[in-house]
Amino acid sequence: MDFSLHAYDRLIGTVAASGYHALTLRQALTGGEVEYPFIVRHDVEWELKRTLAVTDIEKRHDIRSSLYFRVDTRVFDVPVMLRLQNEGFEIGYHFNTLDRCRGDFDRATVMFEEDVRRLREVGLDIRSVIPHGDPRIKKAGYSGNGDILISDRNLLARNNLLDLDSGLAVRYPQHTYIRDLGIRWNLARSGRELIEYVKGRRWPAIYMLTHPDYWSGSLLRACGLQIAAHALRVTGLNRKIATVRSLWTANGADPAGSL
Ligand SMILES: [Zn+2]
Repeated sequence: MDFSLHAYDRLIGTVAASGYHALTLRQALTGGEVEYPFIVRHDVEWELKRTLAVTDIEKRHDIRSSLYFRVDTRVFDVPVMLRLQNEGFEIGYHFNTLDRCRGDFDRATVMFEEDVRRLREVGLDIRSVIPHGDPRIKKAGYSGNGDILISDRNLLARNNLLDLDSGLAVRYPQHTYIRDLGIRWNLARSGRELIEYVKGRRWPAIYMLTHPDYWSGSLLRACGLQIAAHALRVTGLNRKIATVRSLWTANGADPAGSL
């Protein structure tokens, strides 16, 4: 079953066995260039339990990933973030300050810098950030949370943060971006097919994004989430998404596909 933790275990095991070199984003940008890099990123949105299940799998395969944490949901848990950092994972900041400030760029920029400073004060070595995207949030005067990086071109450098987009483009310009947006793979019809592609080293450099909220320990939940996500795509019932979302976020997932 796709998007079960068992499937993730198989995928990560295949990465490790196929000659790819797993990297965090920071390692990819600041370390030496490697052959067959496999950069692993997770956006941590709602639920810690599944994130920890994912990192446990990675530890078993001796792989470390980059984890971008929201600070305005229950995943904001400093002791857990510190523990993961101590275990070798990269902790980053998954920011949505324009959403939180309803499009006020000045306030959103100040809040962003305060969040980064506070995360560092508790001992987290934050070197990179990823904007959160949620198509359901009405955006007044902006197109996404990343817009503060455009309005303030010096924001990353001023806060000693890596520029992931340009850094990756320089270091691994041919990388392939694979992601589980909307609980399906963008470049494979199934998890099984993705594993075959990885086994055959179809892509010489991979940058993979997953949302641990989408991955399930139980096959029933994995199946239910995929059916819900598929139904939302097919019917386009955007106005009903909030209803379904509230149903599923009770289980710590969001089939409507926030980033
Ligand atoms: Zn997100």
